[in-house]
Amino acid sequence: MLEDKNESRTSLSDLGEFKLIDHLTKDIKIHHKSTIKGVGDDCAVLDGKDNLTLITTDLLVEGVHFDLSYMPLKHLGYKAVMVNLSDVYAMNGETKQITVSIAVSNRFPLEALEELYAGIHLACNTYQVDLVGGDTSSSTKGILISITAVGEVAKKDVVYRNGAKPNDLLVVTGDLGAAYLGLQVLEREKQVFEVNPNAKPELENYTYLVERQLKPEARKDIVKLLKKLEVKPTSMIDISDGLSSEILHICKQSKVGCNLFEDKIPLDQQVISTCEEFNLESTTIALNGGEDYELLFTIAQEDFLKIKANPNLTVIGHITNENEGIHLVTRANQKIEIIAQGWNAM
Ligand code: ADP
Ligand code: MG
Repeated sequence: MLEDKNESRTSLSDLGEFKLIDHLTKDIKIHHKSTIKGVGDDCAVLDGKDNLTLITTDLLVEGVHFDLSYMPLKHLGYKAVMVNLSDVYAMNGETKQITVSIAVSNRFPLEALEELYAGIHLACNTYQVDLVGGDTSSSTKGILISITAVGEVAKKDVVYRNGAKPNDLLVVTGDLGAAYLGLQVLEREKQVFEVNPNAKPELENYTYLVERQLKPEARKDIVKLLKKLEVKPTSMIDISDGLSSEILHICKQSKVGCNLFEDKIPLDQQVISTCEEFNLESTTIALNGGEDYELLFTIAQEDFLKIKANPNLTVIGHITNENEGIHLVTRANQKIEIIAQGWNAM
């Protein structure tokens, strides 16, 4: 038996996800010259001949990241792939292969796993990705999915989190907050259903929100668009944890500050109306909601004209010197410091 002789215990929830990762990875020594980037970005970056290889992995755990009472398994499979592709696109790369590992309890019949794989295959076909391996194990409780994606990017095209410069523009794709609200809507319907199993779910007014939660699309199209527009972002990250958290990552790694303008944050009409109904602040939801799988990037001012007319891209702020800090400028023209979120599901 292994006995823990160490009396001191530090609670993981006091530390938070990011500090935990820092703590566990701070002493890593890189042994190979081909490891260009290790821990700390959306993907690891490995040297190749002409191209760089990108690697990213994500783990989804039942009860932590998803609830099968409203997440159909086919959607879960699709989303598990998207979450990984999104990190590859955040490096301005193209995903080529994935591996899929699962651990399942005997609660799941074969038909359930067929559903899961139908979603995985659909994602692979839609995004032109090859499923090349994985691992299968049993679990004592629930289902767990771990996907690793391998991508490629030309050396001159790779974009890291750390290249933002003062005066760059901060740009976001699509709109924000919908996936989080979709989850709130689904949670509410689940509670109604638990009280009255005959109740019909009322989702007509929330179709966009629910779709964003259950069937997100990674922004492969944006990588293509940026190439076409001849814009290379100075830094980029995907929005998995929420806009505020991703802005902090870019600013900290680039050693810059930022002004984010509240009135520029793109919101869908359903997000606005549902926030009113649920008595939530739409800005807070956009900042902290997460799971949008949009891309957040910075571009040099000279490139503004190239992106200006594109409905997929919204300039939401600009980069400043580090000593100016990281702020939200509200509609009332107040400056509020953007701070890290608390502990969330990793
Ligand atoms: P993302 O949200 O883009 O998936 P994360 O915040 O999960 O990124 O991870 C940030 C960085 O930390 C990444 O480089 C990731 O590979 C690394 N990382 C996360 N967890 C671990 C771990 N347990 N051990 C080593 N590296 C990790
Ligand atoms: Mg990421």
